[in-house]
Amino acid sequence: MKNIELPRRVVVGDNAVNYISRVCRELDLAGNSLVISDEITYKVAGKKVAESLGSELVIIETKVPDFKEILRCIKNKKINFISGVGGGKVIDTAKYTSYKSKIPFLSIPTSAAHDGITSPLVSLKKDKPISIKARSPVAIIADTNIIKKAPHRLLAAGCADAISNYTAVLDWKLAHKEKGEYYGDYASSLSMLSAQIVMDNAKKISDDVSIVVEALISSGVAIGIADSSRPCSGSEHLFSHALDIICPKPALHGEQCGVGTIMIAYLHGDENWKKIKEALKIIGAPVTAEELGIENEYIIKALTIAASLRDRYTILRDGLSEKEAEGLAEATGVI
Ligand SMILES: [Zn+2]
Repeated sequence: MKNIELPRRVVVGDNAVNYISRVCRELDLAGNSLVISDEITYKVAGKKVAESLGSELVIIETKVPDFKEILRCIKNKKINFISGVGGGKVIDTAKYTSYKSKIPFLSIPTSAAHDGITSPLVSLKKDKPISIKARSPVAIIADTNIIKKAPHRLLAAGCADAISNYTAVLDWKLAHKEKGEYYGDYASSLSMLSAQIVMDNAKKISDDVSIVVEALISSGVAIGIADSSRPCSGSEHLFSHALDIICPKPALHGEQCGVGTIMIAYLHGDENWKKIKEALKIIGAPVTAEELGIENEYIIKALTIAASLRDRYTILRDGLSEKEAEGLAEATGVI
């Protein structure tokens, strides 16, 4: 049985953040609200959101979020709903504390660096990075005027995360064929569409950020419909998680997934690995170890340990040997 939860309202466009109070009224979100931001995103939009909602409580996260402290504040101040205004970490904090305290949350992204801004999944950094199913935002308010002013590197990473759906779907189909795993055609097609649209519009991304925002929202919806991260997370994501564990200075999630997508598509014997690489180049996302700022040895190591990180059947199967990993990274020009 699947338990599908989707956002009730999605507002995308220039100055969308001005509609926050109207959206809350229409969704019957009333009472005390909590706004979570970081120092930068508070200035960019958090302050405005807090003032529009007359928020009781504003939490500005600077480093690792103290979930216990936030949950205590929510209880003590009798908070009715949460607004996460920021990038992935802020939205994840809002998502997780909303899930734990069983109150709704709004996702108000100030950049579009990965699909976590819309999905029900939250990434937690424990001994190894894990993603747990929390809850979908009750509403997403994506102000394209704010998102287009964020550093281009973040937008390029968001494009790469959407493009990575391509190999996630290939892995999902493989797991269905070889292991009889559940597979949903609708969620898979929706996820693939996000990857395709971003690739097809690679040249236009900087002028029209709504393409990426909508692709990431569709990714989140695909995850909601599948009730699993399968449509948007395959072995390219395992490769990125492996880099997060072993690299002293990992790159951005989307950037690593993009490079992983090139290699995993090649491993699937899919000729489109060249198209994927070309699209990432046009977008301005990294396509080599050097552009990721990561040494070759970590790329090879990550490819060899990726399969062991989670019980998810992918083209990596039992894992690649060092020689296979090196050959793959060289054949695709990553190292
Ligand atoms: Zn991702």
